[in-house]
Amino acid sequence: MNKHEQNKLYDITIIGLGAAGSHLLLAMMDDPFFDSKRILILEKEPKEKHDRTWSFWEKNDGRFDHICENIWSQGDYFSRDKRYPLELKEYRYKTLHSNHFYTLVREKLESKANVFLLEQTVHNVADIGEKLRIDTEQTSIDSYLVFDSRIPEDFENQADFHVNILQHFKGWLINSKKPVFNSDSFTIMDYRVNYKDQTCFTYVLPYDAHRAVIETTFFTEFSVEDAVYDDLLNKYISEILNIDDFVVEHEEFGVIPMSTFPFQHYNTDKHIRIGTAGGWVKASSGYMFRMAQDKAAQMLANYKQSLPINQSLFKAKYRFYDRLLLDVLKEENKLGPAIFTASYGANPLARLFRFLDEKSSLLDDIRFILSMPKAPFLRALWRQRLNIFK
Ligand SMILES: Cc1cc2nc3c(=O)[nH]c(=O)nc-3n(C[C@H](O)[C@H](O)[C@H](O)COP(=O)(O)OP(=O)(O)OC[C@H]3O[C@@H](n4cnc5c(N)ncnc54)[C@H](O)[C@@H]3O)c2cc1C
Repeated sequence: MNKHEQNKLYDITIIGLGAAGSHLLLAMMDDPFFDSKRILILEKEPKEKHDRTWSFWEKNDGRFDHICENIWSQGDYFSRDKRYPLELKEYRYKTLHSNHFYTLVREKLESKANVFLLEQTVHNVADIGEKLRIDTEQTSIDSYLVFDSRIPEDFENQADFHVNILQHFKGWLINSKKPVFNSDSFTIMDYRVNYKDQTCFTYVLPYDAHRAVIETTFFTEFSVEDAVYDDLLNKYISEILNIDDFVVEHEEFGVIPMSTFPFQHYNTDKHIRIGTAGGWVKASSGYMFRMAQDKAAQMLANYKQSLPINQSLFKAKYRFYDRLLLDVLKEENKLGPAIFTASYGANPLARLFRFLDEKSSLLDDIRFILSMPKAPFLRALWRQRLNIFK
């Protein structure tokens, strides 16, 4: 009988060992305060595959540098007709494969006597007084606190009441026969290959002279047939990169919800949604991987001080900014390229990153807002006038 089977009561349970659950667990395992807590992880998958290619920016060196495929200190943004070199300064853009991240988390977890991992699917979490009862397909477990990566069912059911954009994409890790890539420089967005004038771009993450991830991405309300991504990828590889002989080593497809859905309303004092399910995905960019570390640190600091776990996790002004951008993308999607060109072309990258990281000053905000095309955002403000404080 293992330690889990003898005692089915835990201080903290994390449902889902994806990006958010992993960052939360790593933060707990790094802090001796949590060594005395019984921590359970319930994850339905073995988590061994390269199922996500995570990219993010951060200042200088970081905790995951040793598992990154590449780290860039130079990059470009391309509008339809102009190249904008990016000044990264102290920032670095980084890419890693999820399987390496999962292995890192699992190795650390296995060295901790107070952390237990069960590969089971959670069906229900119910409040039973001072504890929560978690039902999996095999057992019932009690826990004082639950962090939950499952997306609330209402997200699908209430889609009509919120502004929803899909970030949907397909990417290939290609190996070109000829050495064509400059592995020192990445492309964050390139609008030279487009689909029906919509907010659709390609990004390029070169690993070495032969290998790069090429990903075609849409920020739209609609999805597209698989063949559309393939056509756009092939067009970009042949017409922009001038590559005619290559093999695809890995393929990735994904859909990230960018939404004004109020995920935070689904939390109680002891049942907290995390990650995508907690509204951690930045609604206007689809990025989450790095910001999840800040959210995890904030939640654990709150826990240690017996404050409400979600306190100070979100700032109203960024929800408002995100709502306006999502509204423009929903109602006037063809304006997306001009908005992103203004974001990258008329602002130092550090200011844009602070803005997206939700760490901008008031002066940053004013300068950023002044760089934007005004009319589309004023129209969005009018359309969203009754929802501004939601
Ligand atoms: C293909 C793809 C690429 C992305 N790339 C980037 C990127 O480059 N940069 C960036 O910042 N963001 C990126 N994102 C957005 C975001 O960072 C990821 O979606 C991230 O994985 C979200 O983390 P999460 O923990 O919320 O969800 P996940 O990582 O999906 O983890 C949720 C976990 O919960 C488990 N689970 C679900 N239901 C149950 C259940 N009932 N019982 C037990 N376990 C359960 C799942 O198996 C999964 O392991 C990407 C998203 C996708 C889909």
